[in-house]
Amino acid sequence: MAGAIDMSRVSWPDVAEALERGVIAVLAVGAVEQHGAHLPLTTDADLAHGVARRIADGLGALLLPPVAYGDAWNNEAFPGTLSISPETLRAVLEDIGRGLIRMNVEALVLVNGHFGNREPIALAARTLTGQGLPVLHLDYPRLEALAVQICESEPAGSGFYHADEVETAMMLALRPQAVDMSRAAAEYPEFPVTFGHEPMQLREFNTTGVFGDPRPATAGKGEALIAGIVEASLQLVEAFRLRHKGHEVTDGNAQ
Ligand SMILES: [Zn+2]
Repeated sequence: MAGAIDMSRVSWPDVAEALERGVIAVLAVGAVEQHGAHLPLTTDADLAHGVARRIADGLGALLLPPVAYGDAWNNEAFPGTLSISPETLRAVLEDIGRGLIRMNVEALVLVNGHFGNREPIALAARTLTGQGLPVLHLDYPRLEALAVQICESEPAGSGFYHADEVETAMMLALRPQAVDMSRAAAEYPEFPVTFGHEPMQLREFNTTGVFGDPRPATAGKGEALIAGIVEASLQLVEAFRLRHKGHEVTDGNAQ
């Protein structure tokens, strides 16, 4: 394994050397958002950066400091949640991307840890790809299949993982000291019929902030989930690199 070039540890001459060889960048995008009583507010950024680190390790890529804030509007009714607008997130990603273009980074891999970020990420990716920086955006690929295999509890909604067994297990693997299992409790809220079809604060129908059952989570399950996500991510990065090898990216190629 090549090992990441972690910007929190290296200096500019190290980056210059990597650029000389040709390098891609990996950037995690998280959120500052409630995750029940047993997980910290930085959970999404912690998980995304942990996954991004392993992807960057596998690629020998430049690991950027994470974007810790995201669009967490629908959790704002819980104290501690601090959301930025989708326009702000998109602008932040495009600004970072412009810097990467100036440095001649070959491509950018975005590792998203929070559902609400998907739209601004996809739009920023489209802009940057059009400007000559190919962007691959990942949302924990293969997670649904892995969760079925590895986890014991049912998710609260299909593909909906929030402060549940999945996220708690991944936190136990990455930052066990930040998890308080003595406060972990299950909640399976009843989703309003129009959920997903109108803007809605989650606190209207959820009291604890947990969606599902975090109690069966273990660090071992978290390791298995992360390993599966990283493997699926590296396969996508490989396909992405092959697709961009040897031909210029044009607007028509952007998604
Ligand atoms: Zn989360």
